Amino acid sequence: MTVEFICVGTEILLGSIVNTNAAFLSEQCAGLGLSCYFQTVVGDNEERLTQVLKTGMERSDIIILSGGLGPTEDDLTKEVAAKVCGKDLQLHKPSKKAIEKYFAQRGTVPTDNNWKQAMLPKDAIVMENHNGTAPGVIMETAKCSLILLPGPPNELKPMFQECVVPYLEKLTSQVICSQTVKICGVGESRAETIVKDLIDTQGNPTIATYAKTGEVHIRVTANAEDKKDAMKLIKPVVKELKSRFGNAVYSTEEECTLEKAVADLLTANDLTVTCAESCTGGMLSARLVNVPGVSEVYKMGVVTYSNKAKRRLLGVKKNTLSKFGAVSAQTAQEMAKGAALTFKADVAVAVTGIAGPDGGTAEKPVGLVYIACYVKGKAVVKEYHFSGNRGKIREATVAAALTLLRECILEYYSKITFGKKE
Ligand code: ATP
Ligand code: MG
Repeated sequence: MTVEFICVGTEILLGSIVNTNAAFLSEQCAGLGLSCYFQTVVGDNEERLTQVLKTGMERSDIIILSGGLGPTEDDLTKEVAAKVCGKDLQLHKPSKKAIEKYFAQRGTVPTDNNWKQAMLPKDAIVMENHNGTAPGVIMETAKCSLILLPGPPNELKPMFQECVVPYLEKLTSQVICSQTVKICGVGESRAETIVKDLIDTQGNPTIATYAKTGEVHIRVTANAEDKKDAMKLIKPVVKELKSRFGNAVYSTEEECTLEKAVADLLTANDLTVTCAESCTGGMLSARLVNVPGVSEVYKMGVVTYSNKAKRRLLGVKKNTLSKFGAVSAQTAQEMAKGAALTFKADVAVAVTGIAGPDGGTAEKPVGLVYIACYVKGKAVVKEYHFSGNRGKIREATVAAALTLLRECILEYYSKITFGKKE
């Protein structure tokens, strides 16, 4: 089944807002196994919206529109869609009640134009909006389903999950299930090469790769008559992906993040961890603290931005800093060791790098980062070269630090097991 997206709003066209709804809708629909062939952005203009809608209806089974369901004059998505489908708007009483309730709960009164949002196309399927006042609408024609969603992402996303996903499943009279194989420490292009043959020959299930900062997610999606059959199709593919990527797979759970996988690994091995950060300024600690219950393993961490702080708090040698510089493998290593010993942690991760935009030299360019990991007396240090702006470099550093931390713990324990066996 084919789906296309029409995002309505002059402010998207002018670049005032970024079209994150399109990214969300595409990712979700691809994950549901639908074929996404077209995306359009169109301004709040009746004639041009009519034109893109008519074109879309000729070539796609499903059209998802976002935006323009609000109460103001320029919000005209519903009006145009109804006209194109030859439907009149009529008062939808439950929506009127929902709008009254929405305002009453906030102690305010609706303005006259709010009632416009309760005027819905005849015979439409109405989707309640729990986070705003504009209901979503589904209109079915002989050839095509039009799904109209509110523009604000905090309204669109829950409505999509709660109402649109079940509708699409029903429409295809199939259950759509997916499982995501989450990989860290393998670049996107390498990951794609590893699975290229699977992607080239994919059918049901489909396989889609998504690049995240420092991670690659591979989503395997199958449709079948019921969940059990869909999972039966998914299972061997996930198994194959796990065997191809080995230890780089940190989870296949939907809710699991890289920091959660790392925190679980620390907990499972009864290890405490500390972080000593320079260029990431606390972001690494913040990622770990995202995980509920991490206090079992994470007690404290430091930001040592200046040389003085590195010396004072972590015992980095003056000689190391003057000879090799603050951004060096030697400094990173001493930071990690110093943190582990000072804060009495089993494991320490240290990062030092040049996040830019200034401060780079030919020898040490912007994006050069050293990450050291110290696990029970053994230090590993790695050099990285990240690209992008300051924010991107810092985010990439955090993901790489979590990945290195995970690798070092896995390696430490695999060595112990090996030793025991001998
Ligand atoms: P409202 O009731 O708020 O007017 P609406 O359904 O009419 O909602 P729009 O007026 O098109 O939606 O957009 C409202 C806000 O939603 C925009 O200012 C913007 O912040 C956000 N928004 C709209 N479309 C998008 C999009 N495609 N991607 C991301 N955000 C969007
Ligand atoms: Mg609006």
